[in-house]
Amino acid sequence: MKGIVFDIDDTLYCRQDKLVKAAETVLGVKIPDWREFIRIYYEKSDVNMEALESGEVSTRDTNGWRYNETFRLLGLPYKQSDGCLAADAYLELQSHMALSEDMEKVLDAFAADPETKLSILTAGESKHQWHKVDMLGLDRWFDRANIIVTGDTPYSKPDIELLSMMESRLGLIPSDIWMIGDNYDKDIAPAVKAGWHSVWINRRGLPPPERRSDIEVFTDDELTEALLKMSCAD
Ligand SMILES: [Mg+2]
Repeated sequence: MKGIVFDIDDTLYCRQDKLVKAAETVLGVKIPDWREFIRIYYEKSDVNMEALESGEVSTRDTNGWRYNETFRLLGLPYKQSDGCLAADAYLELQSHMALSEDMEKVLDAFAADPETKLSILTAGESKHQWHKVDMLGLDRWFDRANIIVTGDTPYSKPDIELLSMMESRLGLIPSDIWMIGDNYDKDIAPAVKAGWHSVWINRRGLPPPERRSDIEVFTDDELTEALLKMSCAD
């Protein structure tokens, strides 16, 4: 028996293009370097994730602040109200979110294997993340009892306690579990520390860290290929 633990954002579906598109729509300009935009936006996400998870601040206000900080640091022309407008535009784009056909194929392949348990470990405000589970129709492949949203726990990624919780839920030992995620520090580093296997989705081509994931992919096609191969392996 093996466990496959997915992150949601930028793993089961790609949200980076939606974040950039929302900013471009509100500012009326083309973002010159989307990788740099995402890098700063995600750096800012780390700053107030805990307040978000505890429900102290709303997802809209948090995202609005992240947008304004990113606009400011990139020297883009913006008004204070643009951050929240971009957050609204992003939510609207997210309301049409869907899994790619390739990701559906991957999940079908894993779900067809009785020796595989599928699960999710995702960070964020409880209501917001569960809404994504519903929007993406993840019930089709994932048992809700095997989904952990950090907002429902006292912990934040990359706290290793979250991985222990997952091991108990799945009833599996660390070496039988794979973490699939896009954020090295929050998804992969704790998996390496816990003795799990891991697949790192490194879309932005970041330099390799000291302690490596088992598998590193750079594009969605490579991710599909790697996961389909895993679903066929013993
Ligand atoms: Mg992610």
